[in-house]
Amino acid sequence: MSAPPADPEISVVIPAYNEVESLDPLLAELRAALAAAGRAWEIVLVDDGSTDGTAERIAAEAARDPRVRAVRLEANAGQSAALAAGFSRARGAILVTLDADLQNDPADLPRVLAALEGADVVSGIRAERRDTWLRIASSRIANGFRRRVLGDPVTDIGCSFKAYRRAALEGIPMFVGVHRFLPALCVFRGARLVEVPLLHRPRRHGISKYGVGNRLWRGLHDLVGVRWLKSRLVRYRIKPGD
Ligand code: UDP
Ligand code: MG
Repeated sequence: MSAPPADPEISVVIPAYNEVESLDPLLAELRAALAAAGRAWEIVLVDDGSTDGTAERIAAEAARDPRVRAVRLEANAGQSAALAAGFSRARGAILVTLDADLQNDPADLPRVLAALEGADVVSGIRAERRDTWLRIASSRIANGFRRRVLGDPVTDIGCSFKAYRRAALEGIPMFVGVHRFLPALCVFRGARLVEVPLLHRPRRHGISKYGVGNRLWRGLHDLVGVRWLKSRLVRYRIKPGD
């Protein structure tokens, strides 16, 4: 196996839990989008304790292409943990996240990167969301409630297609469920947020890892902690030249 190319500018971090059937089309679409972006890249694929061959598929791809890097968790640890593990290995100055299940369209990558030009964090909005009405309605309520309680500017936190400048994420505490609060926590520390409408597609393979119940109640519970965190987060800028 050859060494990965030095210093990718863009790291695409993807958590995957039992998504084996989506990986090949995902990588094909992502490679095309990254080639069009014309910048040095890596894809960090995190296997979150899958039991369906996802880890083996990722390992095979990483062995074939040094720009694809495999991170394997010993057991299923959840989407936030998988993202944290991926971030800890990612080397790019720009960290892009999206889901493994093809619900996000990699062809939207240029729009996300363009939006990041004038921002520190970009968060997608699923313009025409392709999920059941129950999930769409419950997300709408949860997004509205979260925004009200936190003073959080994010319209659609459930859209996993996001991009961060590395500095915006550095030092943000990672906790179970933090993937629903990352852009808000960055903004609370002074990051500039831009939102972009993006495509959304129905899940083609495998099943969603969430029901309405587990997402809603855990999200509400986390709100209490994030509200406290918002009031206590350290926020500072180091004087230029120091
Ligand atoms: N995921 C993960 N670990 C988990 C649950 C989910 O890595 O314990 C990944 C999953 O494989 C997918 C992403 O997180 O890439 C979002 O999950 P899912 O598509 O099930 O969420 P939904 O789109 O239904 O909100
Ligand atoms: Mg999904």
